[in-house]
Amino acid sequence: MTTTTWVQQPHSRFGFSQLIERRHLPLDELVVQPPIQGVSPGLVRDPVTGLPSVDAMYMAVPGVVPREGRLESLAAVVIQIEHFPELVAAFGPAAGDVVCAGIADRVRTVIRRGDYLFCAAPGELVVLCPNVDDEVAAQIGVRLRHAATGPLEVPQAAIESPLAPPPSATQDMVPVGIQLLVGASSARLAEAPVPSLSRLVGRARTALAHPRLAGVDGVAVYDAEHQRRRDQGFVLAGQLLDAVELGQLRLVWQPIVPARRGEVWAEALVRWDHPELGLLTPDQFIPEAERTGLIAALDRWVMRTAVEQAVEWFAEPDAPGAISVNASPSELLDPDYPARVGALLAETGMEPSRLIIEITERNPVDLATAARAIDQLRALGVLVALDDLGTGDSSTERLRALHVDVVKIDRSYVQGDPADRRNLAIVKGMVATLQSLGTVTVAEGVETLSQLDTMTELGVDRIQGFLWSLPLPADDTAAWIAGHKAAVQRRRG
Ligand code: C2E
Ligand code: CA
Ligand code: CA
Repeated sequence: MTTTTWVQQPHSRFGFSQLIERRHLPLDELVVQPPIQGVSPGLVRDPVTGLPSVDAMYMAVPGVVPREGRLESLAAVVIQIEHFPELVAAFGPAAGDVVCAGIADRVRTVIRRGDYLFCAAPGELVVLCPNVDDEVAAQIGVRLRHAATGPLEVPQAAIESPLAPPPSATQDMVPVGIQLLVGASSARLAEAPVPSLSRLVGRARTALAHPRLAGVDGVAVYDAEHQRRRDQGFVLAGQLLDAVELGQLRLVWQPIVPARRGEVWAEALVRWDHPELGLLTPDQFIPEAERTGLIAALDRWVMRTAVEQAVEWFAEPDAPGAISVNASPSELLDPDYPARVGALLAETGMEPSRLIIEITERNPVDLATAARAIDQLRALGVLVALDDLGTGDSSTERLRALHVDVVKIDRSYVQGDPADRRNLAIVKGMVATLQSLGTVTVAEGVETLSQLDTMTELGVDRIQGFLWSLPLPADDTAAWIAGHKAAVQRRRG
């Protein structure tokens, strides 16, 4: 590759469309191009920070080529002022300008020689770093964030807000607290396909928008695998309705085994037999289905298929005592949901008391609405379970407001360190409280004998987990129940 340095060219034939095109050029093509000529000065500098603007960024990239050697990789570090639009709305645009300029000044003073700083948008800075990988980009991000964080003094005169001290006050500067969000991404020019510069910057922005990716130092690094799963989620959500119609969904069943006496129950868990991707588990498509509202169609299919299977089972000797079906919390917001369940029970002849509807506390909905829907479901005679207890905020408040028949204790408690006395005390307390209310308790995710012993000693009523069985197809479930019954009888007999 030839190296090119940024040379100021006479302005002559620069057009906006060229700029747009440059945004989408693969980086390796972009960097070997000579700078675009004919740029109007207004395009090149951001008037507030005095920094090169985003347009300059796309034009100046040839200059990003290192002074010596080849450009092998390029990293983008994006710095955003958190809640910047809200800050402008609260204090006015003049205060916003002061804050932007102040942050830009702080970053400018610590920028390394050879790195390039741009103002990409109000409240957003981009640093391009030649020959820097993800790890170093993260370190640069941490350093810049550290240097630029902290309250900024804004002249009182620039603040238009009823909260600002009156003009007569002695001080004429008002400190404004600023938080910075930082995301980073790097690309190797040998990568195939080489991303464009706008894609590289876009990746750093995507990382920044995902607090989950931000490590202890608050800098988020773009994670290609994370993004691939999200991209796949978008695509899968688009195919989900077809999947229901084309019969690509399957149910598997996991036994819920009584710790002492009683019948085995079984929970229906959905799988998607995707024509290209193979058998998909719910974590690969449920989150996106929830986000896009397509979960309702999926849950409707699951409920009908599970109930039809149960009615068939109940005519046989080795049927589960009850079946459990997951309902997305958003179902509870649909005022027709309880009536739909009631109609399905009537149509299929399903015994209501043998149907348990599980509602997760992972994505909680408005408590009053949920409570109303749960009461209506219980009025039909079906049982309601609160799933994944301990994963949501304020579980106690939820338990108080929602009258449920069954509570499933999340596996994070069940699989906790057995020497962790606090964890054990919490589970013990939950079980005792729930049992005093007549609620059935289920421990989820029991994988080892010692977890089984612990949960049984703590008084949990039922056990679910890989120790007893993986989720199974319907036929194998009936066979598993038959085998389990025989084993229990042998032990007792
Ligand atoms: P969940 O309702 O908590 O279901 C239990 C999950 O834990 C299942 O994962 C099961 O395979 C897994 N599991 C069971 N025993 C063990 C164990 O011992 N160790 C570990 N590590 N895991 C265990 P699965 O089938 O992948 O389902 C994941 C989640 O997807 C479910 O969690 C549920 O929230 C959701 N889901 C599944 N089917 C449906 C459905 O039909 N509708 C809705 N809305 N959500 C569903
Ligand atoms: Ca469940
Ligand atoms: Ca669960």
